[in-house]
Amino acid sequence: MDKRIVDRREVSATEERHIVNNIYAVAPGVWRMKDVFVNVFIIESQQQPGYVLVDTGLKSSYAKIKNMIAEVMEPGGVPQAIVLTHGHFDHRGALQQLASEWRIPVYCHHMEVPYLTGKSSYPPPDPTVGGGMMASMAFVYPSGPIDVQEHLRELPENGNIPELPDWQWLHTPGHTPGHISLFRERDGVLIAGDAVVTTKQESVFSVMSQKRVLSGPPKYFTPDWGTAARSVRDLAALEPNVIASGHGSSMYGDEARKALHKMAREFWHMGMPERGRYVKEPALFNDEGPTYVPPKLPNYFWVKVLAVTVIAVAGYVIVKKVNEDSLKKKLGKLWKRRF
Ligand SMILES: [Zn+2]
Ligand SMILES: [Zn+2]
Repeated sequence: MDKRIVDRREVSATEERHIVNNIYAVAPGVWRMKDVFVNVFIIESQQQPGYVLVDTGLKSSYAKIKNMIAEVMEPGGVPQAIVLTHGHFDHRGALQQLASEWRIPVYCHHMEVPYLTGKSSYPPPDPTVGGGMMASMAFVYPSGPIDVQEHLRELPENGNIPELPDWQWLHTPGHTPGHISLFRERDGVLIAGDAVVTTKQESVFSVMSQKRVLSGPPKYFTPDWGTAARSVRDLAALEPNVIASGHGSSMYGDEARKALHKMAREFWHMGMPERGRYVKEPALFNDEGPTYVPPKLPNYFWVKVLAVTVIAVAGYVIVKKVNEDSLKKKLGKLWKRRF
């Protein structure tokens, strides 16, 4: 950890403050809204008037984003732009509806464009990574593209975001090829998207209880672990004061920095799965989509579920049969006694 970077920076927030309806104040001018298991952010520029929406949650998040805008901005307010950390289904869910209603720029990295212009699907999710039910269910998560081409703008190469002059974007690929994170240098606020997350996203229990723990990117949806590890090292080098992410509640100060550095150092056993489709070799990409996807691994989870179901059904049938036989015997005895 580089203390000199930390010491010369302003500390603007030390904990998250709940406002109303799953909406939290993360830091000055930064709000988080949790919808089911994913976060949406609103940022107010501190240098020019206006707000920017970061990610758009699930399809069902539309009304909740409107509600968040009413709380943070004003009822019926319209942000100046939308920035996408990446285009997974749980980060671009309400995008089509919001973009066609607001007609504002939607920014993304150029490597993310094929998945947002109807050109390509992401590599399939990997339900074999283990870690809990959210991972095992991954085969049902949509990976197909949407098309918001008419609103889409590529982020400027220099790391600037036109509507947010006090923020920078950084390319943090691995989870997706065009994944980005947002950083405000003045007070070290990091919005990490899914490059790291602050809950164990593979487990339904952790997701529902919002148990706060710094984790690598969601394992079931990450197709390039070597690149993901490099992105975590880049984020650790920022020495952030605040880590807000796509999943989980925000982390602050030394706790956040120490956890991030540990994750960067020990990513190979802390941040990534032991086994999985993309562990031995990554999916490869160019700016039109995936060019190579490793072969599928057998999904033992559903074999185990099937085996447990078969055993349970067989047990039920046997118990029922035994009970029926003993009932018949008892009735037989009664019958004999009667006559
Ligand atoms: Zn994601
Ligand atoms: Zn996510």
